[in-house]
Amino acid sequence: MNSIDEKLRPILAEVHRRNAGEDEFLQAVHEVLESLGRVVAKHPHYLEKALIERICEPERQIIFRIPWVDDKGQVQINRGFRVQFNSALGPYKGGMRFHPSVNVGIIKFLGFEQTFKNALTGLPIGGGKGGSDFDPKGRSDGEIMRFCQSLMTELHRHLGEQTDVPAGDIGVSGREIGYMFGQYKRLNNRFEAGVLTGKALAFGGSRARTEATGYGNTYFVRAMLQTMGTDFDGKKVVVSGSGNVAIYTIEKVQAFGGKVIACSDSSGYVVDENGIDLDLLKEIKEVRRERIGEYVKRRGEGAHFIPTSKGEIWDVPCDVAMPSATQNELSGKGAATLIRNGVIAVGEGANMPSTPEAIKAFQEAGVKFAPGKAANAGGVATSALEMQQNASRDSWSFEQTEERLAKIMRDIHDTCATTADEYGAPGDYVLGANIAGFVRVAEAMDMQGVI
Ligand code: GLU
Repeated sequence: MNSIDEKLRPILAEVHRRNAGEDEFLQAVHEVLESLGRVVAKHPHYLEKALIERICEPERQIIFRIPWVDDKGQVQINRGFRVQFNSALGPYKGGMRFHPSVNVGIIKFLGFEQTFKNALTGLPIGGGKGGSDFDPKGRSDGEIMRFCQSLMTELHRHLGEQTDVPAGDIGVSGREIGYMFGQYKRLNNRFEAGVLTGKALAFGGSRARTEATGYGNTYFVRAMLQTMGTDFDGKKVVVSGSGNVAIYTIEKVQAFGGKVIACSDSSGYVVDENGIDLDLLKEIKEVRRERIGEYVKRRGEGAHFIPTSKGEIWDVPCDVAMPSATQNELSGKGAATLIRNGVIAVGEGANMPSTPEAIKAFQEAGVKFAPGKAANAGGVATSALEMQQNASRDSWSFEQTEERLAKIMRDIHDTCATTADEYGAPGDYVLGANIAGFVRVAEAMDMQGVI
């Protein structure tokens, strides 16, 4: 609590009381409130009108049963969630996560982050998030389809292109979005293209959506490096994860001349001093859905695999680290190792991958640090571009879409940097992102009355 402004402490205490045990959500709220002391000093009306309390409370939370039948004929039960966090700026918008760790606290932290992230894009989207504790690992196509259909049988009544627009997140990509879209369409008897994003190109998807989160983070980190008078060229880069975000981060970093030497999954990490072979990684992860150790077996000379029990990816010396796996994957210890090895910039591709201790360590060491809610906003921004294309029954070229993405990322970078300057903390992207995102949402809410 000490780092929180005195005037905000009662608000935090109330959030703790109301959301006891939801550790990730409390962590996310804590981080934002830490940044807001300087805001309420300048603008006391945010306190007087209880805007911070209101923003910390989701508008609506839906929890439901998802029954489905597996390939053995056995009935399985999962729990589904959709947290419709804030609609001040537009329809609720945010992904669905399928992972056994999912619970209400995780979905709430993601929805809270999403609200500020979406505001930072400058596009008309509110914040929401959903998912299930369903574990897609080892499930057949048929099981995935039946699960997605059962989920949508309940969720459809809460969605709509003007109401709530889900997309993917961990465990949810094109295949799952397709099954959910098909079921939504049957239940509503409407081809409502803009109700889900991350669709396949064949039925209203946007070009560059798959690449957008990773590309966007790379654009953001490049902008940050440029403020230091440097670039990706020749830099050694470590990208944790090997899902959609990681793969397209690696692709863009390589295009900018950086050398990605390590990536990972939950089984361990690979180091490849010759630079990650992206075609091979895509083949293993996107086509065969295998573990990362396979990469080393097929790559041969120069690559090695270290299992999770023997160390972590942050042990690999690098200039730039781009955590792109999951929340709290980069601890204070990992940060200390990276700093000792000379890291100069960190860009979060995942949502909240760095613990509070890690962020503090980076900032104290003068490492440029880009928080996820700013740096990984390219994914959801391109989802909003998909909604625009759907609304106008149009389809843009890859170049046109990527150009929009690059400009959005540049604008987010500049907004965070100028906000940090304005509030007396130059170079503090965490403060800049939290304040700029908060102010956009709070101003819109204020104008809409006590909502
Ligand atoms: N799950 C992604 C995120 O964390 C994308 C959400 C979306 O496209 O709606 O921002």
